[in-house]
Amino acid sequence: MVPRLRWRIALPYVLLILAATLGLTVYVSNQVREVRLADLEAQLAADARLLAGSVAPALEGATNAEALDELARRWAASLGARVTIIGGDGIVAGESHEDRSQMDNHLNRLEVQEALATGQGSSRRYSATLGYEMMYVAVPIQGAEGQVLGVMRVALPLDEIEAGAGRLRQSILLAGLAVALLAALLAVILAGHTTRPLRQLTGVAERIAAGDLNARLYSSGRDEVGQLTRAFGHMADQIRDQVTTLDEEQARLSAVLDHMADGVLITDANGHVRLINAAAARLLDTDEEQALGRSFAQVAPYYPLIELWKGCRAGPGHGEEQVDLVEVSRQGLFLQAIITPFPQAEAEGCLVILQDLTRIRRLETVRRDFISNISHELRTPLAGLKALVDTLRGGAIKDPPAAKRFLKRMDAEVDALTQMVEELLELSRIESGQAPLRLAATPVAEVVVPALDRLRPQAERAGLELNVVLPREAPPVLADAERARLVVTNLVHNAVKFTPSGGRITVAVEPVEDDLLFSVQDTGVGIPAEDLARIFERFYKADRARSGGGTGLGLAIAKHIVQGHGGRIWAESVEGQGSTFCFTLPRALEREAPGDEDRVDRSDSRKKR
Ligand code: ADP
Repeated sequence: MVPRLRWRIALPYVLLILAATLGLTVYVSNQVREVRLADLEAQLAADARLLAGSVAPALEGATNAEALDELARRWAASLGARVTIIGGDGIVAGESHEDRSQMDNHLNRLEVQEALATGQGSSRRYSATLGYEMMYVAVPIQGAEGQVLGVMRVALPLDEIEAGAGRLRQSILLAGLAVALLAALLAVILAGHTTRPLRQLTGVAERIAAGDLNARLYSSGRDEVGQLTRAFGHMADQIRDQVTTLDEEQARLSAVLDHMADGVLITDANGHVRLINAAAARLLDTDEEQALGRSFAQVAPYYPLIELWKGCRAGPGHGEEQVDLVEVSRQGLFLQAIITPFPQAEAEGCLVILQDLTRIRRLETVRRDFISNISHELRTPLAGLKALVDTLRGGAIKDPPAAKRFLKRMDAEVDALTQMVEELLELSRIESGQAPLRLAATPVAEVVVPALDRLRPQAERAGLELNVVLPREAPPVLADAERARLVVTNLVHNAVKFTPSGGRITVAVEPVEDDLLFSVQDTGVGIPAEDLARIFERFYKADRARSGGGTGLGLAIAKHIVQGHGGRIWAESVEGQGSTFCFTLPRALEREAPGDEDRVDRSDSRKKR
């Protein structure tokens, strides 16, 4: 168990108090014993002196030994002590407790020697006969002339004094222990009180470590603990501020990474993915959870990419940036990968940046296709013109009826060229936003009727029936009238072109939710299913043999105009039975009164609604 601080503080005091108590007990009881022994000695000496004075005449006379024994016994009884009368020659003359005849010469006893030499002697000895310690006090017995007649010795057993000293020691010890206990209790309480702020501080530190950055302990104390508490609070504030700043930076960084169009991926020294942003996950067709911790080759299983990454990690180009274009074939992606050595702690990792160039690549393809298409489209009428010019120059010019015919054909070719150039210009203007839509509430009839009027003669010449179905009270559309008319014209013109004589073309308009649905239905040749999705592309012609003088741009222009209005355009067809082209235009709101013309950019048209 970890020793608690309160015990580490309290225990030395408790031990000290116990040691002091014990020491004091021993010292005091010894002192008391010594004082009592000195008192006893003085008492015994006084008694001995009294007895010596009383026994002197008897010793001087010829008193018999039994009488001295008797005297000794009487005195002993009244004093409660042992009395021994020793003659000048050391022979015991009278004894209260022992058999005198068994006793040896006492002249060499310490107390006797001392008494003879100094006038009083004492000795403490263990009496083997009695089995306990005795105190002997002796004084000389002097005759009438001052001559020494013998020695009077009084003795007392010390066991009582020892017992008294023991009792005293016990009481002192008990009292000392009680005091020590109290003092120990006090020491523990005080130590507990002193260490309480430290315990609280520990609790707060543990809460902070567990994530509660606002945990604090307030102290107004001026002592060390108070200072420690304040310093700790200050430190916690700093840590919280730093953690908050780090969190914010982290959040900013992840926001940037997540919203970046480029894919970012970091691998560690072992080649495992440590970070992957949303774009990289999308480009590599994985997700963050799957990718993290797996090897780069597993996350990006594309040979050129892995080779490039390996090149950054090892080999002759180690430590150098690697840049290359990589085709991720399975997903039809075309990526530019930039792989840079990236130090992480002490180990080298790699920073992989993936830029999606698919769109740019596609645009490049479109541009290339466009140029090749346009050259192809121009070549036919130009070759025709060239042939006609050559024919004229070759002599046909001198044959007026033939020359006239050739000139008419040349005129038609030039018209076709002019139409194509105009359509191209129109398309490019719409695409580049240079020709903003002039949106206004426009009655449906204004869109449909003029277009039909223009094409009616052509339809009649082709032997086609042209019908219009307009609702009686159709709401107006929010549209650029001229452009909307162009859409209808293109669709009806196609219907006329691709419907054999005797067919029928029906143009209808009906309100659908917030829009108006325009449809142009014919009973013509129809469009093969595989072409249906592509006919709105530039220059796309479903059936080149039958498309006649078309440029393949009409539907592309129609699509751009309709989408510019925020509408949709599509086609339905069954080959050989006819086609239906539909498009929607937004309904004008009431406040957008007819004639309330408004110049808006194409991109704004939806927002305005
Ligand atoms: P074009 O100037 O050649 O008509 P469009 O973009 O208008 O160019 O049309 C593209 C192609 O879509 C046409 O060449 C034709 O193959 C097909 N198409 C368009 N309208 C119809 C229709 N009503 N019936 C059959 N095919 C059509």
